[in-house]
Amino acid sequence: KRLQKQTAEELISRITKGDAVALSQGITLVESLNPEHHNKANQIIQGCLPFANKSIRIGITGVPGVGKSTFIEAFGSLLTSLGNKVAVLAIDPSSSITKGSILGDKTRMEELVKNPNAYIRPSASGNSLGGVARKTRESIILCEACGYNIILVETVGVGQSETAVHSMVDFFLLLNLAGAGDELQGIKRGIMEMADAVVINKADGENIKKAQLARLEYVRALHLFPKKDSGWPPEVRTSSALEQTGILKIWEMIQEYIILTKENNFFQNNRQEQNQFWMMETIQEEVLMHFYNAPAIAEAIEKNKKAVQKNEISPFAAAQLVLKTYFK
Ligand code: GDP
Repeated sequence: KRLQKQTAEELISRITKGDAVALSQGITLVESLNPEHHNKANQIIQGCLPFANKSIRIGITGVPGVGKSTFIEAFGSLLTSLGNKVAVLAIDPSSSITKGSILGDKTRMEELVKNPNAYIRPSASGNSLGGVARKTRESIILCEACGYNIILVETVGVGQSETAVHSMVDFFLLLNLAGAGDELQGIKRGIMEMADAVVINKADGENIKKAQLARLEYVRALHLFPKKDSGWPPEVRTSSALEQTGILKIWEMIQEYIILTKENNFFQNNRQEQNQFWMMETIQEEVLMHFYNAPAIAEAIEKNKKAVQKNEISPFAAAQLVLKTYFK
């Protein structure tokens, strides 16, 4: 109710002054499924846009248990100790199914959540990964306008959500574990190909040697991939999120990447391409929603599904009949 009382202008003014409560309210509007909030959300995004874009956006992925939240806690704390303001956002592909959110869960980052220079927002829930991802993409703008100069976007490895995160960040980091000689198994090639760095986490105690061996295997494997448009050859590092070793080196590496890609213009070009990508994604999403939400379409689909099932009509002819209901 308090949300409705505040005008978009009031929220924009508070967000751009660094008010984290207003930021949360703004993101709640962005995430809202209530169509009445859409207009206001768009106004807020538009108002924040001139203040956005001055950040480094880092994507972090890896299978459950690899240490993402422990890593983000250590990395985020390091970044704030160096004078940065850090926002942690998440894209949880399962949230569209469970309607709950797991990633970015504040209880998993106990220290960072108390840090006045950190802002943690769990994944939005929604009907589709595309929708959930778009909301995160829009929330980045609000976080940047609120003064957060480093944005961490967390997701978990199932393939599609990585592609979504990759299309909204400047640097993509894949967390991995040293396995028993089969390091490269189970990691989708596509995800490896997207990574600007692979970090072998849990390189501590008895695991150090294994992690170093795994590192060499990854170096070899990454050599086989085609060169990246960024001009940056992907790096492989080891870390212990628990003991907080190797974390500063990772930050130094990311800064090197930023310098290189700003010099060769990849940084700017990539962001422009990403903006266009999200424009097209949004159009597609809205068109699909408009199509499937039309009652006549739902009816025509049901009717023709049955006909197809009974072999009364070919799938293609049935599709044409459904489409004709829409494009008449
Ligand atoms: P997530 O599911 O990827 O977010 O993983 P978590 O951060 O929740 O970590 C999963 C488990 O691994 C927890 O019990 C952590 O304490 C442990 N863990 C995380 N990072 C490290 C590390 O660098 N070394 C060791 N030994 N354990 C770690």
